[in-house]
Amino acid sequence: MLKRYLVIVIFACIPAIFLYGQVAKSPVAPDYTRLKQILDEAYHEFLTDSTGTPADYIPELATVNPDLFGICIVTVDGQIFCVGDVEHTYSIQSISKVFTLAMVMEQIGKEAILEKLGTEPTGLPFNSVTAIEQQSTRVGNPLVNAGAIATASLLDGKNEAAKWKTILAYYSACAGEPLTMMDDVYASEAATNGRNHAIARLLDAYGVMYDDPEKAVDLYTRQCSVGMTTKQLAAMGATLAAGGVNPFTGERAMQATNVPQILSIMLSCGMYDYSGTWSYLTGLPAKSGVGGGIVAVVPGKGAIAAFSPRLDAAGNSVRAQKAIAYISQHLNINIFDPQSVGVKQSN
Ligand code: GLU
Repeated sequence: MLKRYLVIVIFACIPAIFLYGQVAKSPVAPDYTRLKQILDEAYHEFLTDSTGTPADYIPELATVNPDLFGICIVTVDGQIFCVGDVEHTYSIQSISKVFTLAMVMEQIGKEAILEKLGTEPTGLPFNSVTAIEQQSTRVGNPLVNAGAIATASLLDGKNEAAKWKTILAYYSACAGEPLTMMDDVYASEAATNGRNHAIARLLDAYGVMYDDPEKAVDLYTRQCSVGMTTKQLAAMGATLAAGGVNPFTGERAMQATNVPQILSIMLSCGMYDYSGTWSYLTGLPAKSGVGGGIVAVVPGKGAIAAFSPRLDAAGNSVRAQKAIAYISQHLNINIFDPQSVGVKQSN
């Protein structure tokens, strides 16, 4: 009788033991309960913060509900923790620069990236023409508009349609789900991006545009108009965190050997002319877009993505950056902290 009772108890406990194993091994946090608690705290702490203004220089972006706010964490072992409006689709904007850079790096190599695009922060706004005049490389780095348009001009492909197809397929593999372009955002930006055309022409005059400037700007405008949810953005970040393998599909989306260089550029240049302060506050490589999204990567552990349309003067989402900074500080995941999660504390 007792034996039978014991067997029943052991079998009843198996799902619990299995579940405990799953949640307890979350690589970005001490434990599941703590992670969930900090995520919720970050959300409620900044939910009523209405500082900042949504981007309106791309008219379509001004039509987005400014109150939307969502945060997601995806770990390299495929766990997902979300709070808020995480299913809302918005345009990736500047965050796309990271993934096109990854594609071009695979095609031309790390050395050529350094030589043709550079890796220095400009210390100036993302669409600065002054930066082109001041910097010897002209393009600055691949995460400002000049550098990103130059990056798009380097992308290999039979024709424009083929290049665009490759971009969409690459981004989708990183997200682990098919992504599409938001036609209304593309039309709105294409009708108003005279400044990006001017940047491309200027780069061409300096001999650092590697394709027809009009075509490069169009490709760049398309990539900025790709739509995604905060969940998908977190998955893209987690793919970087996992060395290029999507944590949900298990497929290699990105070449592993380039990931350290991509993260390094994100750390120094990913948060516009606020990147130094961001790195000081969070110790996390990140990229933001004027659509209101930010993704921060915790190498080897996971990624945090947040979305909220109101931006500060640099172009970073106010609530998204505050939420990610809060999570980084409270979860102890600053990559420069020798005692960050995953590293044993020495006595
Ligand atoms: N498509 C936007 C532009 O070119 C991207 C800017 C951004 O997100 O930083 O202005």
